[in-house]
This record gives sequence, C-alpha cells and structure tokens, in this order.
Amino acid sequence: MKLVAATGNAHKLKEMREILSDFEIVSAAEAGFWGEVEETGETFAENALLKARAVAAATGLAVLADDSGLCVDALSGAPGVYSARYSRMNATKAWLSAHDGSDDARNRAFLLEKMDGVKDRSAHFCCAVVLVFPEGREVSAEGRTFGYILNGERGKSGFGYDPLFFSDDLKKSFGEADEAEKNAVSHRGRALRALREKI
Ligand code: IMP
Repeated sequence: MKLVAATGNAHKLKEMREILSDFEIVSAAEAGFWGEVEETGETFAENALLKARAVAAATGLAVLADDSGLCVDALSGAPGVYSARYSRMNATKAWLSAHDGSDDARNRAFLLEKMDGVKDRSAHFCCAVVLVFPEGREVSAEGRTFGYILNGERGKSGFGYDPLFFSDDLKKSFGEADEAEKNAVSHRGRALRALREKI
C-alpha cells in the first residue's frame, strides 16, 4: 500500500520507512504538498490528526501522520507537544543568541539547563500516529517508551533528544543505539506496529 507521510522531518520519515518496510511511503513533498500545517492541538493525537487531515484533503491520498515528543516527569510533562519548539518558545533572546546551532541542539542544551540539579530524571517519549484514508476512514494508535534524562549527551545517532534519553529497554541512550535497536523499542516503533495491527 502507498502512503504519504505528513511530515517534513527527514529523520521521522526514515524511521517510518524502516518500521513499516512493507508499505511504500512517500514524503508530502513527493506527493505535491509543500504547505505547513499549524500544530494547534493540545495533545499528540490532536496534532497528528490535524496534519493527516490537511495533507489528505490536499492530495486525495492515504496519509500517515506522526506527532511525538518528550515528556519529563520533573517538568510536569514538558516539553511534550512543544518538544520541537522548546527552546524557541521558552528561552530568552540572549540565551538563543548565545547558543548557535540547530533547533535540536538548542533544545538539548536548554533541557540540560532545566534539569541541572534535578534528582528525578524519569521521562518518556510519546508518539501518536494516524492514518487517514481517501474515503475518510481514520485509524490511530499511540506508543510510549520509558527512560531517563542523562546529565550530558551520549552518542550521535538518531535526532532530537536521542543523545539525552537513556532507554530503560536498551540500557543505553538512543544516541548510542543503531536504527534497528531504537525502532524495536521506540515510541514510534510501538505506535506504528500498533497501527499496522488495526488496518
Ligand atoms: P513534531 O514534529 O511536532 O512531532 O515534533 C517532534 C519533536 O519531538 C522533535 O522535533 C524532537 O524534538 C522530539 N522527538 C520526537 N520523537 C523523537 C525521537 O524519536 N527522538 C528524539 N526526539 C524526538
């Protein structure tokens, strides 16, 4: 089955293709969708649905969307649905100009500062996925993976917060894991395999 992935994140797209290797997954751009969908939902599931519906309406094709993020217990679940925008939304202009680099690198630096001296470092990643079919059927699923926030980065694999997330399942950081190891236990792997069971 051919699916359009409603994401502009190349890392997510790569993981989706590896996890659902029995599907043909094309990017939104390859399907002719170049727009940005505003993520105005308060939950991962709401945002996934917003993205999938917008791209499905524009392309008329079956669309798979993922909304995901990191939830840190000591920060009351933050950065949560704002994971991609964490430092841009919360850091001062002075902090941002002192921390050059990608959003991912800035988000990790900002999180490390927030967690400085914090004892309870438990956290989980959450991923909500939804598949919207052209005739309107919507199938959704969620996945979580648990661990804790390290005191510094470990490993260079993956993306986003991976080098800071020590996985309870793997007994190493996602930054130290190879793709197959991460996908076997990740929030995205769990969500997409649960979705596949439902379709
Ligand atoms: P979204 O595009 O709004 O779903 O943003 C997801 C954000 O959550 C990413 O930009 C990362 O910061 C973070 N995130 C989600 N999944 C992962 C993961 O598998 N590893 C590391 N960070 C992730």
